[in-house]
Amino acid sequence: MSSPQIAGAVVRRWLALALETVAAHEEELGRLDAAAGDGDHGATMVRGLRAAVAAAEKVNGSDGQLLAAAGAAFADAAGGASGALVGALLTTTGRTLGDGPYDTPSVVKALQAGLTMVKRLGKAQPGDKTLIDALQPFVDALAAQPPDQPLAAAWRAALPAARQGAAATASMVAKRGRSAKLGERSLGHADPGAVSLALLLQAAEAVLPSATDR
Ligand SMILES: [Mg+2]
Repeated sequence: MSSPQIAGAVVRRWLALALETVAAHEEELGRLDAAAGDGDHGATMVRGLRAAVAAAEKVNGSDGQLLAAAGAAFADAAGGASGALVGALLTTTGRTLGDGPYDTPSVVKALQAGLTMVKRLGKAQPGDKTLIDALQPFVDALAAQPPDQPLAAAWRAALPAARQGAAATASMVAKRGRSAKLGERSLGHADPGAVSLALLLQAAEAVLPSATDR
């Protein structure tokens, strides 16, 4: 390896940066959620990520093991539908990644497993104005990258699909979750879960090592 990685270091750095990034958008996420919900999405995500950071500090293991542990802690601390869905995404992705390798095809496979779990738990599909509308386009774009593409480069190339997917939820009417009852009110506002998911993916871009051997 050109730059040896400490086991779990990438996930620890990602969680720390994800917390920082989401905290910087906490108010914005709350405003988006208030359009058709209770306005707590920013606070929920920050609470969940704080717990995820703390859990990852305590676990000695691979990046996959840390991600799984972080997901469980996130779900417990964040609570609600967002907590369950994001937590399950992290846990399923982490378990599928396991101890690696962490190359582009393996990460695609793990994220596809996570996406499938989120769809099952949330009983939602693309177009329902949920985090799936950012996650599915991202996973599809990542899967479309050449398999020998280093993960950091593939991730960077796929990231705009997540941002565009999140932005596109502004023109959707919610069909799932609490905001479904007030669906029309959410029109013109992006889904907070899709926006926060895009922020999580954005934070990952900055911490992925560019070495091809991971
Ligand atoms: Mg809420």
